[in-house]
Amino acid sequence: MITEFKLENLLKDLEAFFPNHKPKSEYQIKTYWKELKENGEQVLKKAVKLLISNRTTRSFPLIKEINLACRKIREQQSFASAQDLEPTLCDICEGTGVLWIKTEFSGREYDAVKPCTCKEGQIREKAHQIWKKKIKEGKPLLDDWILHD
Ligand SMILES: [Zn+2]
Repeated sequence: MITEFKLENLLKDLEAFFPNHKPKSEYQIKTYWKELKENGEQVLKKAVKLLISNRTTRSFPLIKEINLACRKIREQQSFASAQDLEPTLCDICEGTGVLWIKTEFSGREYDAVKPCTCKEGQIREKAHQIWKKKIKEGKPLLDDWILHD
């Protein structure tokens, strides 16, 4: 939501760039507010900037054009936040957290894994340390889970 007063100020910003066919009467301005208020102040502000930088005519944007600009802003925002949530995969271990290595034991070669230095690897290493500690203490590994069931 945006207040009528704040929307009027945004319309004035637009007027400076698009003086032709601007909404003049109180009724027209109120209509702009009624039709646009649900977009919220932040989205409307960005939509106004978008219109100022992209619009190629001097005629004042119609309500549906401002709404369309608001929709573009919302789409950009949801795209940006979706990207933020996407984990960046480590190039070395491809996000698995482990690296396959060859190791030697009693003169024989074995395949083994070691933790990667990335975040995923650190999580696995920590889990591995807890696991080793529990084995040392002679605790059955699933004990906690079963007891708390
Ligand atoms: Zn890694």
